Amino acid sequence: MRAGLTQVAATTFQTFLDLLFPPRCVVCRRVGEWFCAACRNRIEKIPAPICPRCGRPLTRADCPYCAKSPLRMDGTRAVAFFEGGLRQAIHTFKYSHRPELAALLAELLRDYLTAYPIPADALVAVPLHPERERARGYNQSLLLARALSAHNHLPVWEDVLTRVRVTRPQVELDAEERHANVRDAFAATERVAGARVLLIDDVCTTGATMEACGAALYAHGAQSVWGLALARSR
Ligand SMILES: [Zn+2]
Ligand SMILES: [Zn+2]
Repeated sequence: MRAGLTQVAATTFQTFLDLLFPPRCVVCRRVGEWFCAACRNRIEKIPAPICPRCGRPLTRADCPYCAKSPLRMDGTRAVAFFEGGLRQAIHTFKYSHRPELAALLAELLRDYLTAYPIPADALVAVPLHPERERARGYNQSLLLARALSAHNHLPVWEDVLTRVRVTRPQVELDAEERHANVRDAFAATERVAGARVLLIDDVCTTGATMEACGAALYAHGAQSVWGLALARSR
């Protein structure tokens, strides 16, 4: 009963806050939602055909990226390129303390998986180092995984993968340095043995972080590891 009243009070308080400070689209500033339908519809999806491994658009029969450095996991996918309104929304989600954006952004992941299913038994978020997570207040990838789970009902395994050392932001590094930066940065648990894991991340730069997560998951017997990000670098 008390929990029910607390819930009512919380909902009423939220409604009150929404009246005072209504959600505004972080891209176009229109009142109503944190990322409005018009701005979401404007996101340009990565066009087919794509490489079946790394998910980059293909302009010829073989993927030049995978020919040079074969992807070290079953496959990676991203909804769109990291630019325009989506880039702005992800940036606000991560750096301006807007955990509310998780639900709307996860709808993009849900729609992607409806159109292009990926075999999976469980969702696993790419972990942040505990220090960075404390500073930010949340792990944005975990919020995405939880919000996606509400749609596709796959369990989110929250304690099977951890970041065991601090790494530099991948954007500062070149391709070779990126692999070295995240090598052995993650540890997995036995729970993943035999499981088909779908890694969730907000942005995939080269895929090196996902591959390093994959290495830890495969080392503990994961049957398959796929990665799905909201956005990827061109
Ligand atoms: Zn908008
Ligand atoms: Zn490829």
